[in-house]
This record gives sequence, structure tokens and C-alpha cells, in this order.
Amino acid sequence: MNYKIAVIRGDGIGPEVAGAAIRVLEAVGKLENITYTFEEAPVGGNAYDRFGTPLPQSSVDTCLACDTVLLGAVGGPKWDTLPGDVRPEKGLLGIRKALGLYANLRPALLYPELADASPLKPALVENGIDFVVVRELTGGLYYGARGGDEKGTFDTMSYSKAEIERVVRIGFDLAQSRRKKLCSIDKANVLDCSRLWRKTVAEISAEYPEVEVTNMLVDNAAMQLVKNPAQFDVIVTENMFGDILSDEAAQITGSIGMLPSASMGEGKRGLFEPIHGSAPDIAGKNLANPLGTILSAAMLLRLSLGEEKAACRIEKAVKAVLAQGLRTADIAGGEGFIGTEQMTDAVIENL
Ligand code: NAD
Repeated sequence: MNYKIAVIRGDGIGPEVAGAAIRVLEAVGKLENITYTFEEAPVGGNAYDRFGTPLPQSSVDTCLACDTVLLGAVGGPKWDTLPGDVRPEKGLLGIRKALGLYANLRPALLYPELADASPLKPALVENGIDFVVVRELTGGLYYGARGGDEKGTFDTMSYSKAEIERVVRIGFDLAQSRRKKLCSIDKANVLDCSRLWRKTVAEISAEYPEVEVTNMLVDNAAMQLVKNPAQFDVIVTENMFGDILSDEAAQITGSIGMLPSASMGEGKRGLFEPIHGSAPDIAGKNLANPLGTILSAAMLLRLSLGEEKAACRIEKAVKAVLAQGLRTADIAGGEGFIGTEQMTDAVIENL
């Protein structure tokens, strides 16, 4: 099978980690009889420099014409002083919207080999950390009406029932395929949006009798994530709460460089990217941990292309390199680390 994959390499370490993931995809493809055509889709600061916009229409068209999309990361200090509507991040928000990607899936998995990298006490992580945050991605405060001036300003949170239903269903489906526990996080004691969210979750739960549902207020959730992370299987929440909690979840599993993510919509096409940013401080130095992007490629194979065996092969290879003691600088604890390229070679050898 030949798949068309749009590649947004982006800025900073984006091209390095995206390049690493492409090498792994090609290597696993040889083993599993999968071929790809990679189509470049410039988005972010590099696109602004070349085309005067962080999201050229041609890149949107390329992504729409492909089976799925792989992304490195965008942004950097070079573009920090640009007006908001042409900043690299605007390109990212724009492509998510253009592709109709309304659910962001972020697995938080602590590899036993990296237990030392977690900032939590050993007693808190000994039961393992293995949950997924499903974050609503195209609604809420980040997309609501805003206005005002120097004297005062406002942002608006609004959700239609349909927007809540579709992302909550993704949470239930995922829970159904895992340990069958769904925790919906909201602020229903204060926000009307959250009350509609909670009501919708209760309604949809009738369709998933096997899934155990709990509701948790977001302030409590922030606490529970560091107090007892093993209690979670699948978390589903609105855009801003998910943005904040998924970073907290990332941190308790160790390095930001390890974690993948998927953004999904109605069909199989998604946007797969590591959770980290463009890390300008280490760009071009062969220091970036490529594993988050390589694991994103595994999610791409599974969720967009249905290539489960190839996805598992990559995940097992990542576990194997960690078990062999191979570490990039961010997870090495100071000494004896290898570079982006060497880590990628090691994953390929272990496929
Ligand atoms: P960042 O994630 O880029 O970096 C935070 C810290 O983590 C840095 O010290 C960095 O060196 C380190 N780090 C990140 N990824 C790493 C990796 N793979 N291996 C080793 N170390 C890694 O966050 P930031 O510094 O807040 O943001 C830098 C730029 O990235 C900003 O312009 C921001 O807007 C952008 N950003 C982009 C995305 C995205 O493209 N999805 C996400 C977040 C931030």
C-alpha cells in the first residue's frame, strides 16, 4: 500500500525530529511492505519567511490531498515580535481548523526505564502512569469572540452541544478500547459551558455501559494528576483545561521530548506531532530527542493508516532502546548521552 503523507517540518528542531520520524517510517515500511509519498507542506516561521504567511493556501491544499499529516514543531524567537495574525502559531491553529481536527489525543506514558526522570516520588509512580488526555481542540476560549481595548478586554468561551458530543465520543471510544475508565474534567460548579459538557457526557454514557465514568473539577484534577496519576485511564476535557492539564501530564512522565500526540477529526486523516515546541535553544545541534516524533509516527500508522503491526513495531523498538540504556541529553540526567541521529539509528536497528 502506498500512502501520501504531508510533512510539516516547521522551525527550530522541527526539521530534525520530523526527519528522524520519516527515516523510521521508511525503515518500518520496508519491513511491513508499506510505501509512502512524502509531500512537503511549509507552515510556521519558515513559511512566513518564504511566502509572507505562516499558512500558505498551497500547504493547506497539500495536507487536504494527503492521507495524513506529520508535523515537527513551529515557532521561535525570530518571529516573536510579529503581529498575532502572522505568527507561526497562527499557522498551526489554522491548519488544525482547516483539517477539521477537533480532538487532540495525548498519551501520558511513563516508561519504567525512565521512572527516575519523573519529578514525582517513586511511591507515586510505582503503579505506573498510562493514560490519555483527549482535549477538545477547535472550540472554547481559544476560538471564541474577543474584543476590547487598553482599558479592558474579553475572551469568550462557547460550546455547541454538537462540538461537545463529537469529542466526548472520541473519549468514550478510546476508553472502550483501553481500561474502560473515562474521567471528564470540567468546572461545572461555575461555568455554564461545563454544565452542558457534564450533561452531555451523562447522556452519551448510556451508549457505553461498559465504561465507568467520573466527573472531576479541573482544580481537583490538577491536584490528582500529581497525587495519584495511576487512577486515570482516559481523560476528556475542553480546550483550555486540556491544554494546561496535558502539559502537567507530560511533565510527570519525565521529558517533554518523549511524548507523541494525535489530532483527529471525522475521518482517518490526522495531524501527528510531538507535544514539545521547536526548542530553539538546541536547534541544529543534534541534541533533540526524536522519540516523541517517532512515537507520533507510530500513532499515525495506527490511527490514520490502520497499520497496527508497524505501529507496534516502532513502539517496541523505542522501549528496546530505552532498555538498552540509550538516552538523549534530556533524559540522560547529565552524562553519557547520544544525539538525535544516533537515537534514530538505534530505533531503526531495533525495529
Ligand atoms: P519547547 O517545548 O520548544 O522547549 C521547552 C524546553 O524543552 C527547552 O529547554 C527545550 O530545549 C526542551 N525540549 C523541547 N523538545 C525537546 C526535545 N525533543 N528534546 C530535548 N529537549 C527538548 O517550548 P518553548 O521553549 O516554550 O517554545 C519554543 C517555541 O516553540 C515557541 O516559539 C513556541 O511558540 C513554540 N511551540 C510550538 C509548539 C508546536 O509546534 N506544536 C508547541 C509548543 C511551543
